Amino acid sequence: MVRKQGFVALAAFAAMAGLPSSAFAQAASMNDLAERYVKLVLAVGQHDADYVDAYYGPPEWRASAEAQKRTLPDIDADAAVVLGSLAAMAPAAGAEELVRLRHEYLMRQLQSLRARVAMLRGEKLSFDGESEALYDAVAPTHTEAEFELVLAELGQRLPGEGSLFRRYEAFRAGFVIPKEKLAAVFAAAIDGCKARTVRHIALPADQSFTLEYVTGKSWSGYNWYQGNYRSLIQINTDLPIYIDRAVDLACHEGYPGHHVYNVLLEKNLVRDRGWLEFAVYPLFSPQSLIAEGTANYGVEVAFPDEERRIFERDVLFPAAGLDSSQVGAYYDIVKLVERLLYAGNEGARRYRNGAIDAAAAAKWHEMYALNSPERAVQRVRFIDQYGAYVINYNLGQDLVAAYLEKRAGTDPTRRWREFERLISSPRLPSGLRE
Ligand SMILES: [Zn+2]
Repeated sequence: MVRKQGFVALAAFAAMAGLPSSAFAQAASMNDLAERYVKLVLAVGQHDADYVDAYYGPPEWRASAEAQKRTLPDIDADAAVVLGSLAAMAPAAGAEELVRLRHEYLMRQLQSLRARVAMLRGEKLSFDGESEALYDAVAPTHTEAEFELVLAELGQRLPGEGSLFRRYEAFRAGFVIPKEKLAAVFAAAIDGCKARTVRHIALPADQSFTLEYVTGKSWSGYNWYQGNYRSLIQINTDLPIYIDRAVDLACHEGYPGHHVYNVLLEKNLVRDRGWLEFAVYPLFSPQSLIAEGTANYGVEVAFPDEERRIFERDVLFPAAGLDSSQVGAYYDIVKLVERLLYAGNEGARRYRNGAIDAAAAAKWHEMYALNSPERAVQRVRFIDQYGAYVINYNLGQDLVAAYLEKRAGTDPTRRWREFERLISSPRLPSGLRE
């Protein structure tokens, strides 16, 4: 049904725009190749339970993938054929930007799919090889010395006796959201993120999400997009949730992060243009760097400058029963600890490359990312499950930040406009650097 709508919209558009019939024929065959791409993603999903993160296209395509259970060599051969067909029909240089981005996106997503298939067939890639092949990006390297500088600065700021980690733990123990206040704090955080988002981005009236609290996961939050402008958002309560995670998770998983990103792709590309490739989301693909990078950077977009601290002081700290006079002290430390985020990539790189084992990787996360022992073990479980995926968060955020700053400077309203354009388009990670 969605496909038919798209086809009609496309034909009407071609007629309206007075496009030559060849342009219309090309768009139609792009849709055929896009359909084959969707079916290939669903076929890989039969071999890799984490691969298909979201799918809301025709249900019979998924049923057919389940029934066929195509072999990995067969999937790879077909992907190569589709890539060849795509390569032969690159849009003209003067074509609409979105049409060019669509073509580049399909090509790169398929190359990534072939890399994932090769991995499932046993090919071993280095950490950087994997991130380049799957996510179209390589994370910069950082040395222990760089992290130690940050740790030294933290050491001067954190009062008390004992190891830095103990002092950090003691300091932030005062900023845990009490379990019985979690629901109220998250509701307030989501309201705050949503109110700021809808001021700048028009969302379909019937969009919404459901929030659930879960345990036993390797991640701290997850958005499962359902289609029809609906998400299921899960928050993992295995470990204590500190107050800064409320806005982080509400923005990242909800507004203007994953939920809004998926809603806009569905609205602008799937429904308005009939581009069905956006009704499937392969997790291990370049799309994830854009998804995670914009979800992380969405916090800055929604709460520019001092706005976050004011919101924390006036709304979230009181909702959590925390001392509002401590907002500044807490966020000064949070900002410093954020500079250790790349330590997570570095630990993952060494672990995946076989330079260190799981125990050493957990220790690395404790030492350089200041993770608690429990959190460090959770991080290693995440790397076991998702590999080089970790780069999508911080590298993705940095690439998105640079891209938006180049276009919008520091003006918050212009930044919102560019942010909306980015999450409504199929731009690739390598395209962020252009
Ligand atoms: Zn995410």
